[in-house]
Amino acid sequence: MRYSGFRVIREALTGHKGWGPAWRDATPQASYDYIIVGGGGHGLATAYYLAKEFKQARIALVEKGWIGGGNVGRNTTIIRSNYLLDGNEPFYEFSLKLWEGLEQDFNYNAMVSQRGIINLYHTDAQRDAYTRRGNAMILHGADAELLNRDQVRAMYPFLNFDNARFPIKGALMQRRGGTVRHDAVAWGYARGASDRGVDIIQNCEVTGFRREGGRVTGIETSRGFIGAKKIGVAVAGSSSKVMAAADMRLPMESHVLQAFVSEGLKPVIDGVMTYGAGHFYVSQSDKGGLVFGGDIDGYNSYAQRGNMPVVEDVAEGGMSLMPMIGRARLLRSWGGIMDMSMDGSPIIDKTDIEGLYFNGGWCYGGFKATPASGWCFAHLLATGNPHPTATAYRFDRFRKGLMIDEKGQGAQPNLH
Ligand SMILES: Cc1cc2nc3c(=O)[nH]c(=O)nc-3n(C[C@H](O)[C@H](O)[C@H](O)COP(=O)(O)OP(=O)(O)OC[C@H]3O[C@@H](n4cnc5c(N)ncnc54)[C@H](O)[C@@H]3O)c2cc1C
Repeated sequence: MRYSGFRVIREALTGHKGWGPAWRDATPQASYDYIIVGGGGHGLATAYYLAKEFKQARIALVEKGWIGGGNVGRNTTIIRSNYLLDGNEPFYEFSLKLWEGLEQDFNYNAMVSQRGIINLYHTDAQRDAYTRRGNAMILHGADAELLNRDQVRAMYPFLNFDNARFPIKGALMQRRGGTVRHDAVAWGYARGASDRGVDIIQNCEVTGFRREGGRVTGIETSRGFIGAKKIGVAVAGSSSKVMAAADMRLPMESHVLQAFVSEGLKPVIDGVMTYGAGHFYVSQSDKGGLVFGGDIDGYNSYAQRGNMPVVEDVAEGGMSLMPMIGRARLLRSWGGIMDMSMDGSPIIDKTDIEGLYFNGGWCYGGFKATPASGWCFAHLLATGNPHPTATAYRFDRFRKGLMIDEKGQGAQPNLH
């Protein structure tokens, strides 16, 4: 069933009786050509592009809980391609281009909103770093603009410009950045994959990998054994646990990141804003809530909830940037598990086990990567070769010293 304006009107006039389920809830078959483990954005996008772009069939996606219950439905919905390093920028720009055509591509309203993102700077050194980053973005075909203080003030007059400990001097802006309704991304990809024959199997936890002579032959699950020729793992915060079942120890730690939503307010922030003197970022949802977050909790955990000291830290960041936020009541907060890699960049690669592939290490920036991650992982699974924009995301970069350390923090997962 195609969604369209005409269809909405027809259903409205006929009592909404014609809507079917958006995707089939499949039961597992004995074997498949491809199994994707993890029904987050990355797993679903991989299954979708495998079927649609790479014309593969006999594909299953297994999810231990329900579609969209992980980080794809827990993030703060920001998309952008404002990266500095060669290994990253082409990949994230590829992703942003896919976002720009995504709703037409999978025929689903994901509320892609290119409302612009600004990164505020507060010192001359920070301005120079943003100038360099903006130039790198432009050289890679992305858009970037350096705004001065007056331009930022014209956009957001309520910021604390004059009486601040860290005065705002300007911002790096990417107008094509913005937000996307996160759970609709999961639903859109699930629907598109299911329509193309992918079996989406929920409530099916992978507990092990069966191997014969150095290659995988299938997965052990809470619903029994399922055979497969190729298996792609995309389980984000659970990466280290799931890959341990294949006897792999990953260069990765799991940490909690929290998000917060205020009560609904009149429109006040029409884009996305990040604070340059503390870790705080904010946008406003279509329902009016201020959606904001800050740093990870900073200790290893697999719990999808956070702790009070970080709530306080994020609130302090918000107060020092826009003091009026202190008048808003906080409605909701939650946490998600981050797969923090040693250099802050992801991995999309084969493993040493024939037929087993891995996608993870997205830290707290994997939502914006969803389309490109799915496309590049599908490319690797179908062709055996990395996609041109994802050649740097290999396991052996740590052995070879080819780190992609966007923040320059060194091998400290909790600092990226
Ligand atoms: C609070 C917060 C804010 C964020 N904000 C942003 C942002 O603004 N912009 C941005 O780009 N990124 C952001 N991120 C990061 C982003 O959400 C993640 O990097 C990305 O969603 C991870 O990929 P995913 O969608 O595939 O993960 P998930 O949705 O977590 O998918 C992984 C799935 O694997 C399943 N799974 C785990 N173990 C098993 C198993 N054994 N068997 C079967 N299935 C299993 C899980 O149940 C889960 O559904 C944020 C994250 C959080 C938590």
